[in-house]
Amino acid sequence: MSPKNILNADLHCHSVVSDGTLTPEALAERASLNGVELWALTDHDEIGGQARAAAAARSHGMRYLTGTEISVTFAGQTVHIVGLGFDASNPAMHQGLMATRGGRGQRAMEMSDGLAAVGIRGAYEGALTFVGNPELVSRTHFARFLVETGVCKDTNEVFRKYLTEGKPGYVPHRWASLQNAVSWITGAGGVAVIAHPARYKFTPNEEYALFSEFKAHGGLGVEVVTGSHSTQEYVQYAETAREFGLAASRGSDFHSPDESHTDLGTLPFLPGGLQPVWELLEDRIQ
Ligand code: AMP
Ligand code: MN
Ligand code: MN
Ligand code: MN
Repeated sequence: MSPKNILNADLHCHSVVSDGTLTPEALAERASLNGVELWALTDHDEIGGQARAAAAARSHGMRYLTGTEISVTFAGQTVHIVGLGFDASNPAMHQGLMATRGGRGQRAMEMSDGLAAVGIRGAYEGALTFVGNPELVSRTHFARFLVETGVCKDTNEVFRKYLTEGKPGYVPHRWASLQNAVSWITGAGGVAVIAHPARYKFTPNEEYALFSEFKAHGGLGVEVVTGSHSTQEYVQYAETAREFGLAASRGSDFHSPDESHTDLGTLPFLPGGLQPVWELLEDRIQ
C-alpha cells in the first residue's frame, strides 16, 4: 500500500447547515479527537458552513478541503455528487447550489400533505423545528419529527415506512443534472466524486452509464470506503475505480451521534493500488 493511502481522511459528513445535528465546530472537534488528519464538511446542496469548518479545522491543527454533496437526478434516481477542494466563493457554484435547494420548501409541504393523508398531522411544522437552515428542509428532518412523536422507533424505520419511493411521505423531485453538478465543482477548481455508489439501485447498464457520463463531464473520483458500504463493497468499488481510472475517496457520511453508525475518522484506510483523491488536491488543502 502506498503511504499516501494511509491517511485518516474523512471527506464526507453533515452539519446543522444541512441535515446533521452538530455544528461545524462540534464536528471539527469530534473529527480531531478521532484522529482525522484531513477533513471536509460536505453539507447537502450548501456551502454556508465552509468558512466556519475551515476555521475550526485550523484551530485543531487539522488540514481541510472545502466540500459539498450535490443532489442530482440521473436515470430517474437521486445520485449524490461530492465536490472537494473548490473555491467556496465561486459565483456559479453559489447560484447552482441555490437553484438546487430551491425546490425543497414546496417539496416539504407536499411531503407533509402525503403524511397528513395517512393521519400524521403537522409534519411540516414539526420537521421545521429540527431544521438549522430554512433553505434546507430534508427528509431527515421529517424522520426526526416522526421519531420524536413516537410514530417510529428510529429514522431507518421512518424512511422504510414513510419516506422512500411509493410510501406516503415520498415526493418525487428533480434535482440538478449530472453535467451541471460536475461542472459547478470543476469550474470552481474542485474535484467531483460519486458518493456511495452502492446505495443506488441501478441496473448494470445504468451504473455503467453513470460512471461513463460522469467521467465524460470531467468527474475524477468515487467513494470507495464510506459508511454506506460493506467490506465487500469496498472491494467492488475499488475495482470500479480502477476500471474507470477514477481516484478513490474515503468518508464516514456522519450525520449525528445518535443516528450514525459510522463515526468520523473510524473507517478502514483506502485499499492499496488506488489513487487517493487527496493526491489530486494537494494545492487545494487549507
Ligand atoms: P433529501 O435530500 O431530503 O432527499 O434527504 C436525503 C437524506 O436522507 C440522506 O442524505 C440521508 O441523510 C437520509 N436518508 C436517506 N435514506 C435513509 C435511510 N434509509 N435511513 C436513514 N436516513 C436516510
Ligand atoms: Mn443526509
Ligand atoms: Mn448521500
Ligand atoms: Mn452525505
